Amino acid sequence: MKYISTRGQSEPLNFEQVLMKGLADDKGLYMPENWPKFNEKEISEFSHLSYSDLAFELMKPYIGDSLSLGELGEIINKSYSSFSHEEITPLSQITKGEYLLELYHGPTLAFKDCAMQLLGHLFEHFLKKREKKITIICATSGDTGAAAVEAMKNKDLIDLVVLFPKDKISQVQQKQMTTSASDNIHCLAVEGTFDDCQAIVKNLLNDKQFKKKYNLSAVNSINWVRVMAQVVYYFYAGLKLGSPNKKINFSVPTGNFGDIFAGFVAYTMGLPVDVLCIATNSNDALERFLRHGEYLVENVKATISPSMDIQVASNLERLLYESSGRNSKMIREMMVDLGANKRFTLDQLTLNSIKDLFIAKSVDEESTKNTIESLWVKDGKLIDPHTAVGINAGRKSLSTDNNTVYLATAHPAKFPDAIINSIGVFPKLPPNISNIMSSKEVYSNLTNKNKSVREYFEREIIL
Ligand SMILES: *Cc1c(COP(=O)(O)O)cnc(C)c1O
Repeated sequence: MKYISTRGQSEPLNFEQVLMKGLADDKGLYMPENWPKFNEKEISEFSHLSYSDLAFELMKPYIGDSLSLGELGEIINKSYSSFSHEEITPLSQITKGEYLLELYHGPTLAFKDCAMQLLGHLFEHFLKKREKKITIICATSGDTGAAAVEAMKNKDLIDLVVLFPKDKISQVQQKQMTTSASDNIHCLAVEGTFDDCQAIVKNLLNDKQFKKKYNLSAVNSINWVRVMAQVVYYFYAGLKLGSPNKKINFSVPTGNFGDIFAGFVAYTMGLPVDVLCIATNSNDALERFLRHGEYLVENVKATISPSMDIQVASNLERLLYESSGRNSKMIREMMVDLGANKRFTLDQLTLNSIKDLFIAKSVDEESTKNTIESLWVKDGKLIDPHTAVGINAGRKSLSTDNNTVYLATAHPAKFPDAIINSIGVFPKLPPNISNIMSSKEVYSNLTNKNKSVREYFEREIIL
C-alpha cells in the first residue's frame, strides 16, 4: 500500500514513512492510494472477533510490507493491553435504539488512547530497526498531550515535547502530562492560547534545517495512522448491532474532524452506515459549511467541551479530497484561500455528495449541560461534556429508524467542573489513576515565542 498527499505534490510513501512523516512536504495530508473494501460475507465473518483480532484484520491491508503479520499482531496486542476494560471499547445501551460507545477505558481516559497507544509501539518498533532517535512535538488543548505522554514515556529513542496553554486546560489533563516522571518527556506551559502553541509547532516543523537536526515528527490527527486506528471501533460497534445486515447511525463530537473521518473510512471500507452526524459545540464552522458550502473561520470560543474548541478542522481536507474525486488542484486552491482569507467555498455538486452521508449540528452550552443532566437523571449515565454534545446533536437530527451509536469520547472525571455545574455531582477518577493528583509535577514555563522553544531544544534535547 502506498500513500499519496491530498495536495498531489509529494512523492508516494509507504506505511512506515507516513507514520514517521506526519504531514506531507507539500503541506497536504496522506491518504491511502486506494481503499481496502470488505463485502457483506467478509464483514459477517468478523462478527465474533475480539477487538484486537478485528484491529488486525482491518489494519492488515494498510501496512503493506512495512511490518510482518506477526509483528503487526504483537504490536496490536501490546497496545490494547493497557486498557482497563476487557472489551477495549464496550458498547452500552442508553434506551431503545440508542447506544454509547465507551472510548475512555484507555490509560488517559479519552478516545485519543485508542490510536496513540498503537503509535507509541509502532514508533518504537521502527526506530529500533533504524537505530535512530526521533523528537516528537505536539501542541495540545489537553487530551492529545496526555495520551502522547502516556504512549511515549520511558521510550529510549523518543523525546516528546508537549506545548500546552498555561492555565487553560483542566487540572486532571495537566497532571496526566506533567507527572510521568520520565526523562524523555518535556512539558512546556506556554503563556498563550492553544492556537499560539500550534503556531509555534508549525513554525518549527516548517523549518527544514531544524526539522532535520532534531529528526522532528508530529502526532496530532493529521497523522494517517491515528485515523486508521480509529476505524476499528466503528466496525466493532457496527458488528455488535447486527452489521452488515443492519444500517447504523453514528453521532461524533467533532473538533479537528479526525474521529468522524475514521467513520467515513469505515463506511468506505464497507460498513453499512446510514448517517454520520458531525456534532460541534458553539465553534460551529462545520455546521455552517454544510449548510452553505462556505467554510469560514471565526475566533475560537471557549466552551465546557474544550477539546473541540477548534475552528480549523484540519482533517476536513481529507473528506474534501475524497468527495471531489481526489481533485488535488481544487484542494490546493481552497487551502490557499483559507490561508489568505480565512475562508473557502465548495462547489454544490461536491457539497451534495457530502450531504448524502453527513449531517452537522452545533450545540450550545446550555443544551450541553441539560443533556448531561438528562442522561444522569433519566438514564442513570454519567457522561462528559463532549459526549453530551454528540448526544444532543444526534437526538435533534437523526431518525430513530436505525440504531444510533454515540461516541463517548472522554471519561466525565476529566472535566469535573462541567459535571458539577450540570448536576452537582463530583465525578471521581478511576482508582488506578487517582494518584496523579498528588504526584510531583515537572514542567517548564515558557513565553509565547518561537525563540524560547528553540532555546529549550538547544538546552534539553540530547541528540
Ligand atoms: C479530541 C477530542 C474530540 C474531537 O476529536 P476530533 O478528532 O478532533 O474531531 C472530542 N472529544 C474529546 C474528549 C476529545 O479529546
